[in-house]
Amino acid sequence: MDKPTVLILGAGSTGAAAALHCARRGMDVLCVDRRSLDRAGATWVNNVPAWMFDAADLARPAPPELLGDPSPMHLLAGYGPERIVADDHDCLEVDMRRLAERLRREARRAGARLMGDVEVKEFDGEVLSTSAGDIQAHYYVDASGLGGAGLIDLPRPERTDICAAAQQVHEIIDRDRARRFFADQGVRYGDTLCYSGLDGGYSVVHLRAHGAGRLHILTGSIPARGHRAGPRVLADFIAEHRDWIGPKLYGGSSPIPLGRPADRLASGRVAAVGDAAMQVLSAHGSGVGAGLVAAKMLADSLAAGDGVHGYAVRWQRRYGGLFAAYDIFRRFSADLSTRDVAIMMRAGLLHPHLVSLSLRQVAPVPRRPIAPRARGLLEATHLGASLGKAVAKMARVAVLYRRYPADERRISAWADKVDELVSPGGD
Ligand SMILES: Cc1cc2nc3c(=O)[nH]c(=O)nc-3n(C[C@H](O)[C@H](O)[C@H](O)COP(=O)(O)OP(=O)(O)OC[C@H]3O[C@@H](n4cnc5c(N)ncnc54)[C@H](O)[C@@H]3O)c2cc1C
Repeated sequence: MDKPTVLILGAGSTGAAAALHCARRGMDVLCVDRRSLDRAGATWVNNVPAWMFDAADLARPAPPELLGDPSPMHLLAGYGPERIVADDHDCLEVDMRRLAERLRREARRAGARLMGDVEVKEFDGEVLSTSAGDIQAHYYVDASGLGGAGLIDLPRPERTDICAAAQQVHEIIDRDRARRFFADQGVRYGDTLCYSGLDGGYSVVHLRAHGAGRLHILTGSIPARGHRAGPRVLADFIAEHRDWIGPKLYGGSSPIPLGRPADRLASGRVAAVGDAAMQVLSAHGSGVGAGLVAAKMLADSLAAGDGVHGYAVRWQRRYGGLFAAYDIFRRFSADLSTRDVAIMMRAGLLHPHLVSLSLRQVAPVPRRPIAPRARGLLEATHLGASLGKAVAKMARVAVLYRRYPADERRISAWADKVDELVSPGGD
């Protein structure tokens, strides 16, 4: 095999986007995946903010890859009745199989070589051993997701920081009953209904029906905290609603790493992108947009001659603080009960604009200072105080990331400061 300029591990959405962007910039690219290419990456439906496609210099999805435009999301505390409706976001429902396929097709057209069924086994810093033989490259890009090749020695998330998620598309066999189900919850047919906190503070059952007679259902939870895993929650929900939910058409499940982005996104001639780099907005476990944007930034950096470290510094300074801030919120909310969430909704501490901002994956800056409503003020006092601490940490962590060191030798000291700030009690 010729020695490629860039060898990419993983042909999911992040790896395929990296292959496309590097090839477009004239680099000789080889991208390999241990699965067959048609099965590489996510095989379910994901919500991705539209602006992230623009930031990643990719065309926004169109049907049939685009399955749904942004819809109002009714976020319920448990089964309600307390709720807020977030309708000021730009999340597109995307068929991930088709998105990754589009990126791989365009990457090939731009000159990249892609190979499926090639498993990466070992890396000694110079040569990568794979099931197809040894390969050497100028740069190595680890886009192999959580539990992938691990080319950079990054700490693995604790079990309590792993969300077990599942997403499936089912046929709706009785449209009238389906309409009644959503109407009974006070949700317009076609809007998104999201029960939160049924299986611990970090858990959702997220449902959206489509006119064509399909139901999109997403579940997630943290089983290591003693809760039902996302796939179990999904199966139980379907079993309870067999009278209107029919057979599964497609979908899948996988663990999602929750935490702040990896402190080191590059080492030597290796860069990590996407889930492999923990570039996941952990407040709701979303990593597609971040991976696409990181892929573009990496290609830009390599093309500009700034190497893998140029990418690491730019990504951390531009997005690291945002992702780390949302992780502080995730830690705050993981232990909330549905009663706590209801109290926060009543008090106005959790309100539609803030939820929309988190869905958009932009800074959680309220339009005006949050003034808890009198009705909820008393019961919210203890929550307001811990939320206040979390918000103060979120602002401070964003400042730390803007100062992400350009000098690699200073990253450990910088990471210690972040650890100190985000640790419980740290401020
Ligand atoms: C049920 C569910 C719902 C989700 N919903 C959303 C959502 O709504 N919005 C959102 O933004 N995100 C969502 N996510 C997260 C999102 O799916 C991931 O962040 C995204 O798919 C990560 O893409 P990636 O390309 O970085 O990694 P992956 O999709 O994990 O791709 C990694 C690829 O690397 C390959 N690989 C692994 N190891 C090796 C090896 N040793 N050698 C060769 N190849 C290897 C794998 O086969 C795989 O194809 C969801 C996740 C789940 C599980």
